[in-house]
Amino acid sequence: MKLIPIIGLEVHVQLKTASKMFCSCANVDDGAPPNSAICPVCTGQPGALPALNSKAIELGVKVGLALNCSIPDLSIFDRKNYFYPDLPKGYQISQFYEPIAEHGYIEFDVPKAQPPRDHIRINITRAHLEEDAAKNAHIADSDSHATYVDYNRAGTPLIEIVSEPEIRSPQEAKAYLQEMRAILRTLKASDADMEKGQMRCDANISLIEVDDNNLPRKQGFNPKIEIKNLNSFKAVERALTYEIERQTREYESGRIPVGATRGWDENKNQTFEQRLKETNADYRYFPEPDLPPQDLLAIREHLIHRMPELPQAKRTRLMNEWGFSKPDAEFLVENAWDEYAEHVMGELGGWMEATDDSASSGGELVSERKKALAKLAGGWLTSKLAGILTEKNLTIKECKIEAEDFAELLHLLDKGEIGSANAQKLLVMMVETGDDPSHLMERHNLGQNMDITALTKIIRDIIKNSPDQVSQVKQGKLGILKWFVGAVMKATEGKANPTIAEEIIKKEIGE
Ligand SMILES: [Zn+2]
Repeated sequence: MKLIPIIGLEVHVQLKTASKMFCSCANVDDGAPPNSAICPVCTGQPGALPALNSKAIELGVKVGLALNCSIPDLSIFDRKNYFYPDLPKGYQISQFYEPIAEHGYIEFDVPKAQPPRDHIRINITRAHLEEDAAKNAHIADSDSHATYVDYNRAGTPLIEIVSEPEIRSPQEAKAYLQEMRAILRTLKASDADMEKGQMRCDANISLIEVDDNNLPRKQGFNPKIEIKNLNSFKAVERALTYEIERQTREYESGRIPVGATRGWDENKNQTFEQRLKETNADYRYFPEPDLPPQDLLAIREHLIHRMPELPQAKRTRLMNEWGFSKPDAEFLVENAWDEYAEHVMGELGGWMEATDDSASSGGELVSERKKALAKLAGGWLTSKLAGILTEKNLTIKECKIEAEDFAELLHLLDKGEIGSANAQKLLVMMVETGDDPSHLMERHNLGQNMDITALTKIIRDIIKNSPDQVSQVKQGKLGILKWFVGAVMKATEGKANPTIAEEIIKKEIGE
């Protein structure tokens, strides 16, 4: 029996607005004192009327356009009725009949996947706006149990993005979410941090039996299991992997799993049944009478010409225009370092053009020289600088190094004026002080600018103390020259230029 997973994702994203969806309370994060950002509207007092936040509408349209969706001319809100203590009105204002965006798609790479699933397009069914619920806190001590409700989150704007069930593995699900996060961040629609609950995911999964050509053996899908409230990429990947294994065992023992809602237990690393599946009819949706339909036409036509460059296009441009490798381009976009990196490359380009005529002719073909510089820049950004910033718990925005100074450091390396070990030391100082690299290099004597007479003297001493190595070089073992260079670099604390040192070593040994 060959089974393949059919996965669809529902993603809830908190929109980054100053105020809530239907009132003027601040849209605060979890750090705010409980119930410090509430009013009669978001606590559902009788007679309080909602007023729509136009910024939330604008962000919703932006997200829809970025997901290649069609945006209707009118936006209409509906009431979704259910009872729960975190929903003071007894209903949630959402969009059921006329979502703000429909029929879109995103395209992205799936790391380590085999063709043709290494680059896939997943269709988006719809995206709709709604208000978030409050937050319940269950607090128990030795003699009492109590549930407290914090209404700060009640009424904060959400967009729910629903994919078609076209995802085929936990790895694809993770890549989909990562691309979604990159898009949302690029749009400045949300910080989309899953750990902070700014992006939450429900995953639907069923299995289907296929033949040897991966074609379904029957029409239609099996009942789906919905895994609720996954709050990290890791949780999504693990919960889906667990469900695939669990459902496979069911099918193999002749049972078809029934549709249900399940939770994810991070500690036990398994899903658990919460309740049998509800249907949409349970919610008795009807149009929200307190909000008039919103005209989206003007907003859509305005925004459609003002969309920022999206992550997929940005990665391609970083590779084609600047010569960055694919992994470096992915890192730079993923971590929002792309702007900084382009600034660095722009500065480097200025120096480069002065020394290399083959470079930057129109930008369609990247010269070898440019690629080499992009490789140098990519390595120093994504591994060296990223490492230092992680260690110091800093973001690129908090980093004191001007792009111009970072480019200058790369230029010093490229010209051989500093060795890579000392450049690393220099970079740490730059992060700490924000000073420019040439001054720091001079002040701390880190450059490879050693006086030839002094260098020759050090080399003669090393040669005198290493008769074995000298005789090996004389026997033709030229690899030993590198050992001498290493010894010189050590003796000079990286201040010798290795190329010049090697020439002097050869001359002194007589090779
Ligand atoms: Zn309020």
